[in-house]
Amino acid sequence: MPIDATLPYDDSNIFARILRGELPSKTVYEDEFALAFHDINPQAPLHILVIPKGAYVSWDDFSERGGDDEIAGFVRAVGRVARENGLVAPGYRLLANVGFDSHQEVPHLHVHIFAGQQLGPMLAR
Ligand code: AMP
Repeated sequence: MPIDATLPYDDSNIFARILRGELPSKTVYEDEFALAFHDINPQAPLHILVIPKGAYVSWDDFSERGGDDEIAGFVRAVGRVARENGLVAPGYRLLANVGFDSHQEVPHLHVHIFAGQQLGPMLAR
């Protein structure tokens, strides 16, 4: 079910539990500001999620409340994950769903990195 991105942060969400080490993830990168791991249901040959370590519901929440250090750290982590996986030359796609119309399902900000094939049009038609 898509979530309502205007609700307060719920720290029982799946990604909060991954951050606390209560659930496993296939980690690809971690630093002070971000954790990156493989999506459990990949939609492309390579499908990585990058999440901030802080408690933010969505891109909207993060861009409004996130500290400058957290925002810079997170954006740099996304770029670094893509670079370290050799994605810049072939290309990749970033996606962050916010709220109901986008079908955001997990209420902790996550940026999807899709790569490994021609990704086709931006939106399903
Ligand atoms: P979104 O629709 O943008 O909220 O995307 C949520 C993503 O989280 C989906 O692509 C799911 O496959 C993925 N996902 C859900 N649970 C897990 C999990 N435990 N580990 C890794 N990815 C997950």
